Amino acid sequence: MKELVVISGKGGTGKTSLTAAFACLSEKKVLCDADVDAADLHLLMDPEIVKRSDFQGGRVAIINREECTECGVCMELCRFDAIRDGFEVDRIDCEGCGVCVDLCPVEAIRFPIKTCGEWYISKTRFGPMVHARLGIAEENSGKLVTLVRNEAKKLAEKEKLDLIITDGPPGTGCPVIASIGGATALVIVTEPTVSGIHDMERVAALADHFHVPAMICVNKFDLNPDNTQMIENVAKKMNMTVLERIPFDPIFTESMVYGKTVLEFNGKSETGKVIEKIWSQIICSPLMNR
Ligand code: SF4
Ligand code: SF4
Repeated sequence: MKELVVISGKGGTGKTSLTAAFACLSEKKVLCDADVDAADLHLLMDPEIVKRSDFQGGRVAIINREECTECGVCMELCRFDAIRDGFEVDRIDCEGCGVCVDLCPVEAIRFPIKTCGEWYISKTRFGPMVHARLGIAEENSGKLVTLVRNEAKKLAEKEKLDLIITDGPPGTGCPVIASIGGATALVIVTEPTVSGIHDMERVAALADHFHVPAMICVNKFDLNPDNTQMIENVAKKMNMTVLERIPFDPIFTESMVYGKTVLEFNGKSETGKVIEKIWSQIICSPLMNR
């Protein structure tokens, strides 16, 4: 089974629209939305949830006021200042380190696992999809990324589907690291801006670190052809495959407004044809056929 992960150095590069267009072009696959902090693949896929499960992340301290002697030890020790006057723990500030639990002299602090969000298996017009929703102000998104990727793998095995297309998170933080390891190949979507170059270099370095081969695609290339060339030169030096360039096209936003993929919205457009070409480059690439 193969997994193609689509990522970008920052948000707003067209990563999700491109992932959705790939979903439209491919057969026998599972879709996976691993951009759990700002999931929006569902806006284009219109999923019908068939299974809903809790995502249990870290733990949270809860003080039992009947047992608490108000000695103040926990307040002194909590370096996240999560214990408020009146010995109430602020759920959002509590990092679940467990120090107060271990050192409360009268064992007045419980430490249950908390539910930080939900994850789903859904039906879509392009096949099954695994996605998630992280609770407001919850962290642990790296753990949730790992969970949705694992569940997508299990689903693909069960349904005998040989490809997973994953919409990865933007950036270079913990969720991105969780979305890269073990992937067959990455597509890094970037824009021809100065920050786009740096973001791409950082993501490419991560891919290299995890020995995952990467392809690069410059979206809105015509906004700055010099920077596009610079990005592609850097990518080639880093042994990355350079995919077809995508021109700036409002079709990305327009199709999103109508809840359609670019190809459903206007498959005959120039951009639609470029995306079809990119998909052929990806599936024929030796990186996806190792
Ligand atoms: S350490 Fe325990 S007993 Fe002391 S204030 Fe905190 S919860 Fe109460
Ligand atoms: S578990 Fe850690 S972060 Fe949470 S209240 Fe206790 S000491 Fe503070």
